[in-house]
Amino acid sequence: MSPPPNRPKAGDSPLGALAPAQGAEGSLVNLLEFDHEGLAAFCEQLGEKRFRATQLFRWIHHKGASDFSQMSDLAKSLREKLAKRAEIRPLTVATEQASADGTIKWLFDVGGGNAVESVFIPEDDRGTLCVSSQAGCAVGCRFCSTGHQGFSRNLSTGEIIAQLWFAEHHLRKRLNLAEGERAITNVVMMGMGEPLQNYAALVPALRMMLDDHGYGLSRRRVTVSTSGVVPMIDRLRDDCPVAMAVSLHAPNDTLRDDLVPLNRKYPIAELLDACNRYLEAAPRDFITFEYCMLDGVNDTPEHAQQLVKLVRDKVSCKFNLIPFNPFPESGLKRSPRERVTAFARILQDAGVVTTIRKTRGDDIDAACGQLAGEVQDRTRVKERISTRSPIRIHREGQHGWSDTQNKQETKA
Ligand code: SF4
Repeated sequence: MSPPPNRPKAGDSPLGALAPAQGAEGSLVNLLEFDHEGLAAFCEQLGEKRFRATQLFRWIHHKGASDFSQMSDLAKSLREKLAKRAEIRPLTVATEQASADGTIKWLFDVGGGNAVESVFIPEDDRGTLCVSSQAGCAVGCRFCSTGHQGFSRNLSTGEIIAQLWFAEHHLRKRLNLAEGERAITNVVMMGMGEPLQNYAALVPALRMMLDDHGYGLSRRRVTVSTSGVVPMIDRLRDDCPVAMAVSLHAPNDTLRDDLVPLNRKYPIAELLDACNRYLEAAPRDFITFEYCMLDGVNDTPEHAQQLVKLVRDKVSCKFNLIPFNPFPESGLKRSPRERVTAFARILQDAGVVTTIRKTRGDDIDAACGQLAGEVQDRTRVKERISTRSPIRIHREGQHGWSDTQNKQETKA
């Protein structure tokens, strides 16, 4: 892959200053790993007062500084101590791609042959960053490009927040934003990975997004998207409730077992119970159900009716229908537009709020389900997916399912 013309290097700051050069990488503590509380503990270890952490945290996250000498309100002695012990180490940008519709996708090198992607989606009234939580994903959903790559490792807190740190401060400069204006107003944990399978790193990163001295995002504007890790949904409700999206994609367990294999462990009824418990603490009074529309697989009027029966008067929710972005290994096709509209109408007529997602960035493979990065698979997820039996295709005019795969129908 060829780097973009202004490729940033590790150590570059969006403010233009360089991070401290001394010390081998790894010998210095990366302060991006610490939430506010963690930074306070680090300051104490240095023999400093805890309140110094607030100043430091603001310089790093609010102002995008990566050079301690820029931090003019810190005592010189502290700046010197920090330079000896710590650094602010961003991710290396491997490539940047910009779509005709303004969407920007960055591929970040996270070492060991792995790279993860983040996507910035600008709209009139907001700027959304889609953030990755893992290099690959072990869940292995049929329709997801990341899932087909297998799983390498969890990202650290610093690697998760570094995506936002880079995007926010890089875009502020690039878009020439005035002091105090924000580039990123919303974060969705919908990039590569299942965030709730990387819970320990996720929660401090969420706290940094919400922190007024950090990115100051409201809980309603930070969304965790999960395929349904039930126990962790409960923990997130207690630890750091933010908006929640659930990858549902099927109205019954038989089909969902096949599309989202985690369903075999946490079936739909348990998942919906967890959603209701989550809503007791959630900043929004609904769960967003993501539903990827797959031609002949989950997009019939019967499926829509089953969904209505599943959720109406049972869980406060909105549906987001996602036109599938085909990739060759999936063997799946996008539902025709008219079928998606008809599906939405059935839900809407039954009083279930439903939107159809606009596809963004599909000319740069940045649309939903297309994020692939580079993953050194350390699991057998990839192999398991490739040996799965073909998905059953519903044929027009038939009730129920065809048992054999029709190659014509499933060829992407
Ligand atoms: S949809 Fe989400 S949970 Fe499923 S494989 Fe893709 S990244 Fe993992």
